[in-house]
Amino acid sequence: MTDFLIATNNTHKVEEFKRILKPLGINVLSSREAGVDLGDVEENGTSFKENARIKAMSAYNISSMPCIADDSGLCVDALGGAPGIFTARYGGEELTQKERNDYLLSNMKQVETEKRSAEFVCSICCIINKDIIIEVQGICSGSIAASPSGEDGFGYDPVFLYKDGRCFGEISPEEKDSISHRGIALRLLRDELNKRKDVL
Ligand code: IMP
Repeated sequence: MTDFLIATNNTHKVEEFKRILKPLGINVLSSREAGVDLGDVEENGTSFKENARIKAMSAYNISSMPCIADDSGLCVDALGGAPGIFTARYGGEELTQKERNDYLLSNMKQVETEKRSAEFVCSICCIINKDIIIEVQGICSGSIAASPSGEDGFGYDPVFLYKDGRCFGEISPEEKDSISHRGIALRLLRDELNKRKDVL
């Protein structure tokens, strides 16, 4: 089976990619394992899909190996879809993640429970070679909690309330994988790769 480079420096994402893709029979290498310096990529796309493609293309050009990149974020209805593609920088570059979560909660303070709907989006771009590019997207619907809960996960997990009433920060990694935007997108990727066994 072909090895794929995971085109991210985010160690939490690397963990999730490996955890989800290994049992699906897809071998993945972090940039460190592949001995590749991904550098800083300017994410100047206007959608998750465009940014995922920019990251995957950059990694492919540097490494010349099959690459998988994701661009993901949180879209909050009461905020007109924000922070969206700006999720990683929401509230300012210098904030810690805890401060970012507090900033989001403060912007949602006046919003009633039934109007707090939100979704996590994950766009994945997989480049097998310059002619074969696979793009998939996973969406997980939920809402923004009134206050943070749980120690599991990363990023906005403590403030993202899944429809069963628990925050992502309160559920086990395996359970998160079975319902999350990234889990959904990566299982779609597996299905697409299974159709392209001829080129792997
Ligand atoms: P990216 O690395 O440019 O795609 O930015 C993703 C942003 O969305 C970061 O701020 C992440 O913390 C956040 N994010 C993406 N996926 C998740 C998740 O599964 N849980 C919590 N936060 C996430």
